[in-house]
Amino acid sequence: MEETELVYCNKCEKHTNHTIKASIDKSVHTPEDTIDDIYQILECLGCENTLFRRRYMDSNIQDIIEEIKDETPGYEIPEYSDKYYPPLQKRKKPVWINRFLTFNPISEAIEEVYSAWHNNLLFLASMGIRTIIDLLCCEKIGDVGNFTEKLNGLQDKKFITEREKKRLSTVVEMGNAAAHRASKRSSEEIEQAMDIIEDMLEKIYVRDSKEKKLDDIAKQLEKGTPKRKKTKRKKTKVKKNNSLK
Ligand SMILES: [Zn+2]
Repeated sequence: MEETELVYCNKCEKHTNHTIKASIDKSVHTPEDTIDDIYQILECLGCENTLFRRRYMDSNIQDIIEEIKDETPGYEIPEYSDKYYPPLQKRKKPVWINRFLTFNPISEAIEEVYSAWHNNLLFLASMGIRTIIDLLCCEKIGDVGNFTEKLNGLQDKKFITEREKKRLSTVVEMGNAAAHRASKRSSEEIEQAMDIIEDMLEKIYVRDSKEKKLDDIAKQLEKGTPKRKKTKRKKTKVKKNNSLK
């Protein structure tokens, strides 16, 4: 019976059993060092999706990690460093991005952030998210000063609310910290930042555009609706009630 292994499947969008269809072992074992280097083709037993994996482990590097792991409580040393192609997707890019942001550099930047994120290039992902906000500001209000001024500009033009501005400021600062202070955020934190960015983009490019269409429809309906005729009200004399006097 073929050996199976639980691996995330991009197509099934969950962990599924995979079989190893082919495996080439390039490992090198010497008295000083052990390097495991294995190249494999895996196939999902659910949907037959195929992917490639390189499993790598260098005992010297493992020893170094072992020495410094005490500085990071809870950190567990992985047995192998696994790299997948295509990369395992953390989540799918929302479908409306291609529809509403075709030929827009924002769409390209989002594509690159997803690619960095799925490849665990987390510094680049943080910086890329900041770039998305910059591109949005430049498109909507122009290249006007620093990020604080740009976000104020977005709020002044009513693209975002005060609450949304605060959220975006946090994400911008996360990108600044990655670029200037070597702050590397976790994959989960990148996902949270993407939640903030995508909600804002969806509001500006999808929901606002839908609302404008509905405004136009309402105007057309208004034109086709007969106006109410103005009628004069008959004045009726009200008898004074003197009973209270
Ligand atoms: Zn699958």
